[in-house]
Amino acid sequence: KQEIVTIDGPSGVGKSTVSKKIADALGFTYLDTGAMYRAVGLFIHRLGVDLEKENDIPTLLESLELYFIPPAEKGGDVGVLLNGENVSEVIRTPEVAMVASHVSAFPEIRKKLTEMQRILGERGKIVAEGRDMGTVVFPGARYKFFLDADPRERTRRRVVQLREQGVQVDEEELHAMTLERDKNDRERAIAPLKPAEDAVLLDTTSSGVEDVVEKILRIIKK
Ligand code: C5P
Repeated sequence: KQEIVTIDGPSGVGKSTVSKKIADALGFTYLDTGAMYRAVGLFIHRLGVDLEKENDIPTLLESLELYFIPPAEKGGDVGVLLNGENVSEVIRTPEVAMVASHVSAFPEIRKKLTEMQRILGERGKIVAEGRDMGTVVFPGARYKFFLDADPRERTRRRVVQLREQGVQVDEEELHAMTLERDKNDRERAIAPLKPAEDAVLLDTTSSGVEDVVEKILRIIKK
């Protein structure tokens, strides 16, 4: 089995915070695959392409160049370079998240990002965070986790997190977006959001980050 930890789940469940802490504790590299979908969403959006119309997505993707920049400080966000431009902050908005959710339903886009993610997984030990890490991208991962929590609680956490990042949002509006994104992610035909059969399920509705991190580390170190 691959020395990979997969952490999947819906938005706002605390995946990023937990994944970063697990990666730090184990000395693994953190792979934020949501950031990749967000960057592709931004890329497609800026091209002004309407994906609902007929498009040659593989050709569009030929002019896409994605790089990760390591976080400036320990536990900080991983940065993303999109065709040489630092888009680390722009991709964090709820609007880009919605666009990401739309583009992520297209098979050609998933194929491209899955390939990139597997290449990154070959390079060393990683904690891979996303929606389909345990089911599709790294089915052979040694440790798989699926985090879930009540939708209201997830929206609340996203509000706090976004405010910390200086992004002001309306809670009700964000809640509607959270629900829509969940629905898109769960119901899409390809790589829908669901736990891998061999994933450990953790409900985080009433547990703090440290509890979840501790539980995961205990299972890994067993
Ligand atoms: O995790 P994050 O909120 O940054 O992800 C943004 C969007 O990217 C998700 O709503 C989902 O549609 C998509 N995504 C995905 N597969 C992944 C990671 C993210 O489809 N592995």
